[in-house]
Amino acid sequence: MRDLLLLQTTPAQDDDLFGSFKDFFGSPVWLVLRNVVLFFLAVFWIASAYWVYKDARRRIEDPWLLAMAVALGIFPPFLGPLLYMFFRPPEYLEDVRERELEIKAMEESLGEAARCPVCRAVVEPQFLACPVCTTKLKEACRRCKAPLEPLWQVCPYCETPVESPRAVENL
Ligand SMILES: [Zn+2]
Ligand SMILES: [Zn+2]
Repeated sequence: MRDLLLLQTTPAQDDDLFGSFKDFFGSPVWLVLRNVVLFFLAVFWIASAYWVYKDARRRIEDPWLLAMAVALGIFPPFLGPLLYMFFRPPEYLEDVRERELEIKAMEESLGEAARCPVCRAVVEPQFLACPVCTTKLKEACRRCKAPLEPLWQVCPYCETPVESPRAVENL
């Protein structure tokens, strides 16, 4: 009765094609080996699917695309994660956000209107004084009265040399 059960539960023994292999495939060593291999395949499968989930979460914002990526990571096993690696977005979301912030900050600093250093009122580049708090913003050219930037050494409109107040004092 016990032998009959064994015969029924080990189909490899019915297989005469493999002749000498049948003892091996029927042996407990083969079963243990097969189970160990299956166990590691399963562990590796779960690990690769989890890796896809973790990686996709950092790269994909859309929940549907994220779900699709995770599904691909699970099935087909091993091939799915490989395919995912080929088609995943090249950048992490945090890097994309960081770059967008940098660009935004750069645009803001470029497009920012000139402001009075004292009261922060918006002032035009040609203003000589702040119209709100009367702070002196720029010197006017001695000859043509054009507003001059502090660094300018000569008036660009009439070529009159700019004399700094200190130079005037020294004269
Ligand atoms: Zn002001
Ligand atoms: Zn001038």
